[in-house]
Amino acid sequence: MKYALVTGGSRGIGRAVCCKLAAHGYGILINYTKNQEAAEETRKLVEETGAVAGLLCFDVANRETCQASITNWIEEHPNDQIAVLVNNAGVRMDNLMMWMKDSEWDEVLNISVGGFYNVTKAVLPGMISAKWGRIINMVSLSGIKGLPGQTNYSAAKAAVIGATKALAQEVGRRGITVNAVAPGFIKTDMTEGIDEKEFKSIIPVKRFGTPEEVAALVNFLASAESSYITGEVVTISGGL
Ligand code: NAP
Repeated sequence: MKYALVTGGSRGIGRAVCCKLAAHGYGILINYTKNQEAAEETRKLVEETGAVAGLLCFDVANRETCQASITNWIEEHPNDQIAVLVNNAGVRMDNLMMWMKDSEWDEVLNISVGGFYNVTKAVLPGMISAKWGRIINMVSLSGIKGLPGQTNYSAAKAAVIGATKALAQEVGRRGITVNAVAPGFIKTDMTEGIDEKEFKSIIPVKRFGTPEEVAALVNFLASAESSYITGEVVTISGGL
């Protein structure tokens, strides 16, 4: 059976991606780190589509536990394959550079950039053996444009964009594509304190996006139809 591993699959964009990929026939591995209740809710939603779902609890920034968890799963499922990896887990800890705490810098980079490395390193050998794979990295408009108050987040997402382009060139010949999705403002817990009314005037379509809209794009990039697209950053921002 082919599985999709979605990091940060318990809530927000990750949950919508889990449900969308489930509806297209993948078994779903839902990673989360703290919020077991939300992860169980995602599992329920995935199972309602008729798909198989499993929970993988690990902190993507912790190389040992993250890689051990994925390696154990692979060893316990010799007839299954992780065909799709969505590196979606992320946090934002905004602060002006002047006031930024070391922990805010470290944590945001460790989760986004470290998480990309830790998870992808563990999953990639299976994709190479299968000669097929889809890796989709959730970045942000902030990593393309840079946003004040987000030097940590912009740096982290820009780093993952660079890694996306480099890895795409390493593995293209093996049937594996690597792309990044860069959302603007999407309605999730992450954007909870941000006033949509205040920002919608600068968004051409005049509203925040939904997790389901991002999931539809991820679903396309995860499909066989997208096989000639790799190393790209696709923005989904209502024209922002
Ligand atoms: P969210 O609602 O805050 O959900 C974050 C998810 O990441 C949760 O499932 C959380 O798990 C998980 N997570 C956080 N730290 C983790 C760690 N160390 N290890 C494993 N999982 C971890 O966020 P979202 O808005 O859906 O964002 C998803 C991705 O899209 C992020 O990479 C974010 O940077 C990016 N993005 C979001 C927006 C936006 O407007 N929302 C815009 C651009 C980019 P728990 O439930 O266990 O805490």
